[in-house]
Amino acid sequence: MKKIICMLLLLTLMLPTLGACSPPQKYSDSFFLMDTLITVTLHASSDTDAASIFSECERILSELEALWSRTDAESDTSRINEAMSGEISVDARTAQLMIRALDVATATDGAFDITVAPLILLWQSCESVGRLPTDAELVSALASVDHKAVSVRGQTVFKSSSNAKIDLGGIGKGAAISYLADYLAGCPIAGALISFGSNVATVGKKHDGSAFRVAVKNPIDGKDYAKVLELSEGEVLSVSGDYERFYTICGEKYHHIIDPATGYPAASGLCSVAVICEDGALADALSTALFVMGEEKAKAFHSLGIYEFEAIFIASDGSVSATDGIAY
Ligand code: AMP
Ligand code: MG
Repeated sequence: MKKIICMLLLLTLMLPTLGACSPPQKYSDSFFLMDTLITVTLHASSDTDAASIFSECERILSELEALWSRTDAESDTSRINEAMSGEISVDARTAQLMIRALDVATATDGAFDITVAPLILLWQSCESVGRLPTDAELVSALASVDHKAVSVRGQTVFKSSSNAKIDLGGIGKGAAISYLADYLAGCPIAGALISFGSNVATVGKKHDGSAFRVAVKNPIDGKDYAKVLELSEGEVLSVSGDYERFYTICGEKYHHIIDPATGYPAASGLCSVAVICEDGALADALSTALFVMGEEKAKAFHSLGIYEFEAIFIASDGSVSATDGIAY
């Protein structure tokens, strides 16, 4: 009898401890922000307040969208675009993003250029009336594309030409995914997978202790993946492809990555570029830039060592190659 009482007592003492070690679970939520479907999957114990974590993710992203949207009249982007010239004071996150964007513009000799906005507006307006841009329209829009007309000091943006307009669509999602990953890294969870349009980041590990694996699809050979990778903590995978977004004009598709040298959708022989690096904004900007450059120039750019990144290239014929740091 004494033995049974002792065992019962031991079990009662153990109960709170057993309760604290709740079984692991997967929680998932999606938001549509920045014109993109974002899905966050958490791996965490069953007593995790996943709803609060998701609502904070949504708050972080809504704030960034309100700063960087080209269509919201109050955004930093719109205030920069509407200013005739001179100085515009912006949020610290916008200043940091623009410094990165202008740095990549210089390093890539303008293959990535946030001042492509006049060309994007031209293609959008031509799509709405169902015709291609004329040469004169392209020449006029191209005259306003010049990243050197914009600079940033502290939280002030300087514009030297009233025609300079910016579009952060090629860098903002990558920056935003890093903001989410930083927040989730401080949450009481085992890990998280963030899918943000064509950007992916992971935090920690799955609840069974295994690493998250992400796949780079081959849009030509739809059956197979070009590569399956494990991302290290803090790394972001960003993909730019000609199959993602389009202007449809007279039944033809014109993809959304513009070559700032010609004003036309980039025709570099690639259909997709994936970049992996530790900074989401950089991964995003570089995937756009390398797509514009094409494989040969992109590989030469990689070997200059200006930025630390790796890339996978999928050519229009479906062939796959990569920079040295990615095993094939
Ligand atoms: P991504 O999908 O990251 O390659 O970004 C493409 C988006 O970036 C487009 O939808 C435009 O908003 C913008 N964009 C297009 N061409 C360029 C370019 N050459 N440099 C910077 N941004 C661009
Ligand atoms: Mg990009």
